[in-house]
Amino acid sequence: MLDKVLIANRGEIALRILRACKELGIKTVAVHSKVDADLKHVKLADQSICIGPNPSPKSYLNIPAIISAMEVTNSVAVHPGYGFLAENADFAEQVENSGFVFIGPTAECIRIMGDKVAAIKAMKASGVPTVPGSDGPLNEDPETLKAIAKRIGYPVIIKAAAGGGGRGMRVVENEETLVTSITITKTEAQAAFGDGTVYMEKFLQNPRHVEVQVLSDGQGNAIHLGDRDCSLQRRHQKVLEEAPAPGIPEDVRQAVFESCTNACIEIGYRGAGTFEFLYEDGHYYFIEMNTRVQVEHPVSEMITGVDIVKEQLLIAGGEPLSMKQEDIIFRGHSFECRINAEDPVTFLPQPGTIKSYHAPGGNGVRVDSHIYNGYRVPPNYDSLIGKIITYGHDRDSALSRMRNALDEMMIDGIKTNIALHQDLVEDAEFKKGGVNIHYLEKKLGL
Ligand code: ADP
Repeated sequence: MLDKVLIANRGEIALRILRACKELGIKTVAVHSKVDADLKHVKLADQSICIGPNPSPKSYLNIPAIISAMEVTNSVAVHPGYGFLAENADFAEQVENSGFVFIGPTAECIRIMGDKVAAIKAMKASGVPTVPGSDGPLNEDPETLKAIAKRIGYPVIIKAAAGGGGRGMRVVENEETLVTSITITKTEAQAAFGDGTVYMEKFLQNPRHVEVQVLSDGQGNAIHLGDRDCSLQRRHQKVLEEAPAPGIPEDVRQAVFESCTNACIEIGYRGAGTFEFLYEDGHYYFIEMNTRVQVEHPVSEMITGVDIVKEQLLIAGGEPLSMKQEDIIFRGHSFECRINAEDPVTFLPQPGTIKSYHAPGGNGVRVDSHIYNGYRVPPNYDSLIGKIITYGHDRDSALSRMRNALDEMMIDGIKTNIALHQDLVEDAEFKKGGVNIHYLEKKLGL
């Protein structure tokens, strides 16, 4: 068992990690920027250290400062949460080279999954369904490029191997614009990511975003915790998620789950991870693997009873997985609404002081949030201030609990997107289940 864990993150996920550590009797160290000294988990941790000024490159992304903090506090491991350094292979490598445990997969695994061409190749080899595409990087020969696109069928999408955050992609409708589009995407990818490698995929017109949560111990054991539907997105940012993904034929789901756990074993995956897919017309198409805990992990916890962060800590401590696939019993349905400090109409961030806060409650309602009365939301970071998660024995009951919880939640002093969620849970199409990734933007008139 790990003795002391340094939490290299902030906000709700830092508090989530702290709670899991405390349950396991693990000592905790919080690191924070100057403005974050009043974060809830900083107050609750056994020790805390200021690692730098407010801009994240100087604090939460400052690798030497974090490793020094581990040294001076005698921490044995670091939990990176999500965002910041969570998928930075160099960080994982430096942590392990300094004699500490990185709570996540090996640096090598992060590196493969961070290179989309390499990731797709590894997935294909393990039998995970991928998008019809170029099977590797594109060269410069116009005739070869045209032949690939013709085989795939238009429209196609050109994607940067090193891309992320929805950047470095371009859709091509026909042959006339193919070669110039590839040249432009290459140039942009080189400028943005320092790597001009691009590849080609079929562009799916109306897919859903469905992802599979896995846990793997790096010792030959892997399980899945089912799927999540995260199709409600704005500018590639997820807004509201649910588990399980509604309306997918059971045999199709089970086959993809099995391919994901097989892939974990093949690549020697260690820790919690997510396989992201686009789902269209009964088919799954792998797009990427996230090698970390995700914001929306609680919906999978609600329907399985498994504590994903505790499992991450146990795996990092060297334990083999404590459960087998047949031990996982899927029950009921769960939703998560991401509560952001932002204007519900313009979506602009709304930092400021929370004058008064009342959290919702009741049967099947969970709130993961670091905010409190008098807490000041700083302007420097992501606008996520909390998540409401509900559980019900079926989709309708989980959704009506969410409706109640949103009505109960009161945050005064700053604007939030609660009104947007209130609108969404009443939306007739969403209530039916299975809307695609364009639905929210269309509804918002974007
Ligand atoms: P990133 O790492 O930048 O998030 P992804 O590969 O996960 O990149 O793709 C981000 C988003 O781009 C997807 O969620 C989807 O909306 C869109 N996208 C990516 N590939 C395709 C595709 N082949 N067809 C249609 N949309 C796609």
